[in-house]
Amino acid sequence: MFTDSHCHLDFTEFDADRNELIKRCAKLNINRFIVPGITAKRWPRVLQLCLKYPSAWPCLGLHPWWIAKASEDDLMLLEQLLGKHDLIAVGEIGIDGAIEDIDKQTEYFVKQLHIAKKHDLPVVVHHRKSHQLIVPELKHVNLTKGGIIHAFSGSYQQAKAYIDLGFKLGIGGTITYPRAIKTIKAVKKLPLDSIVLETDAPAMPLEGFQGEINSPEKIVNVFSHLCNLRDESPEVLQESIENNLKQMFNFKVQN
Ligand SMILES: [Zn+2]
Repeated sequence: MFTDSHCHLDFTEFDADRNELIKRCAKLNINRFIVPGITAKRWPRVLQLCLKYPSAWPCLGLHPWWIAKASEDDLMLLEQLLGKHDLIAVGEIGIDGAIEDIDKQTEYFVKQLHIAKKHDLPVVVHHRKSHQLIVPELKHVNLTKGGIIHAFSGSYQQAKAYIDLGFKLGIGGTITYPRAIKTIKAVKKLPLDSIVLETDAPAMPLEGFQGEINSPEKIVNVFSHLCNLRDESPEVLQESIENNLKQMFNFKVQN
């Protein structure tokens, strides 16, 4: 089976045919979705969605793009929700080097890392032009459960820095673009136990699908690109990826 380890199924882009989409995914053997919440306002929607669809697993966090509006109250609410619900991770959190206010982004990133550590949970991390800002904070907080570097792009050395900290790399549409030479080179060499797959749907359309709404169905395409880059058989790759996820996340029965 396949898991889309990062897709925003709660987004309005999927409102028109979410039921059908999940059925189509099941036909493709895509039976698990990790759905990260991005703002406190959207968290209830993510929780509701994951109650409705047992194949969807929630994690909640304050995404760096919306940190300007985030407050201490949001962090308190996050702690409360972590106590109440079976959340599998804290995320999506991170630092985005391409947008403003790195100080507040860093402050909220670190605070959420500490919350994850306190609750013994992994984190789902957004990065862009920010490996040099994220790695030192991860080293400093030293999470027990590690996490996923979502939509990893970068060199093998950058990947290795995360792997050494107990992280796995979310491999997505980036490897379908031949121009992503550095990332493709890194993905060829990654230890098998550090790879998970994701689409980031509705964002990040694959090569050949630019301008379209991305879909978790495309995890199959990402997987076939991965197969072309790796020496292992598709069976071995698929099984290892699922094991990597089960090792990181506690997929227990939701209530
Ligand atoms: Zn995302």
